[in-house]
Amino acid sequence: MTATRWLAEYAWLPEHAEPTPDVLIEAVDGRITAVTPLVGGGAPAAGVEVLGDAVRLPGLTLPGLANAHSHAFHRALRGRTHARRGDFWSWREAMYAVAGRLDPDSYLALARAAYAEMALTGITCVGEFHYLHHGPDGTPYDDPNAMSAALVEAAAHAGIRLTLLDACYLTATVDGAPLAGPQRRFGDGDALRWAERVAAFAPEDDHARVGAAIHSVRAVPAEQLATVANLADRAGVPLHVHLSEQPAENDACRAAHGVTPTRLLAEHGVLGPHTTAVHATHPTGADVALLGESRTGVCLCPTTERDLADGIGPVRRLVEAGSPLSLGSDSHAVVDLFEEARAVELDERLRTRRRGHFTAAELLHAATVGGHAALGWGDAGRLAVGDRADLVTVRLDSARTAGVPPVGVFFAATAADVTHVVVDGRTVVAEGRHLTVDVPTELRDAIAAVTLP
Ligand SMILES: [Zn+2]
Repeated sequence: MTATRWLAEYAWLPEHAEPTPDVLIEAVDGRITAVTPLVGGGAPAAGVEVLGDAVRLPGLTLPGLANAHSHAFHRALRGRTHARRGDFWSWREAMYAVAGRLDPDSYLALARAAYAEMALTGITCVGEFHYLHHGPDGTPYDDPNAMSAALVEAAAHAGIRLTLLDACYLTATVDGAPLAGPQRRFGDGDALRWAERVAAFAPEDDHARVGAAIHSVRAVPAEQLATVANLADRAGVPLHVHLSEQPAENDACRAAHGVTPTRLLAEHGVLGPHTTAVHATHPTGADVALLGESRTGVCLCPTTERDLADGIGPVRRLVEAGSPLSLGSDSHAVVDLFEEARAVELDERLRTRRRGHFTAAELLHAATVGGHAALGWGDAGRLAVGDRADLVTVRLDSARTAGVPPVGVFFAATAADVTHVVVDGRTVVAEGRHLTVDVPTELRDAIAAVTLP
């Protein structure tokens, strides 16, 4: 039995509009067993003695942040695609060039470094939307899940939990053009063979779980969508899908099927409370209603949507319609859930020219409980008894955060202000340093191995 206790200068407790000062958090074997605010309770002398062995956490302690949408290998593209003009589609060519160079060993190294960067920023759980399944020409590795296994191992090294969202990716276009060139390694042939491969993969360690994904309506033919949805449903695992990131996807779907991507997914049983639509940047009013009524989650990735010139989705309308919100760093142009969270509010301000659409507590919820729920970890994301002991401490004495009230942290802090990270009761980051991974060195070397000079 491993018992630990922490004394947080401030902690943001569930259902609270703002943080609470002086909170004692106790955990046994990675689970929170007690959360005790000391102020007002008088903090008796005996209590002070009991606190002697508590780890002091100066600053604001949050629950673990969940990054609900990641493609780990995109980290190699950061800063490399901005010199030229272009759009999502020209960026995709650069992304394919990196995809073509990865193998299980180099992907393990790159993902380990990328996930360790996430740990440094307070991310304790990641949803890896994984489609780089096979060898470069589409031939499966000896172990057809070798790439999945590399990602699971990478998360273990980095000290964070992972939901491997294994993506079905079968065609290049909505009207069924076959995969070609670098896309060949994404494909399993058909949805049944995809399902067979996924069913054969079961991570041994309990830091990782498997979920399902439909890459997009471009990549899975309409008549095979239900096969993927049914597998996720039977297994009781999360199902994620890229949705309406680009207007071109809507246009192509209407041309091929006569309906929007959202309606196509609805007609084939893909929407529902265990499904998360990633982006949902360009839904129609009817699409928003379909997503909300079905309680389909929406994962926004604002810094990627910004980077790729996607546009700004109608996030407040989606939430009002009934869609729970989560956040993802997606292409890792930026890995900073504080930036993603405030962008939800700030982008809505740009769109509407009005302020005040989301409370700080709503942004915290999206970054924590919302993300964990979308990834199938219903017992994480709250500083509450019974939840996983995931703690993220943000300093309030940096040049960015000094003088900022704790409730304002999502509008002031950056990932660089995270000092201490605990995952399932284990310390992964202390004093701003990852305890087992030299993150900058490993990122540099792993990226150099898969990019052209
Ligand atoms: Zn994505």
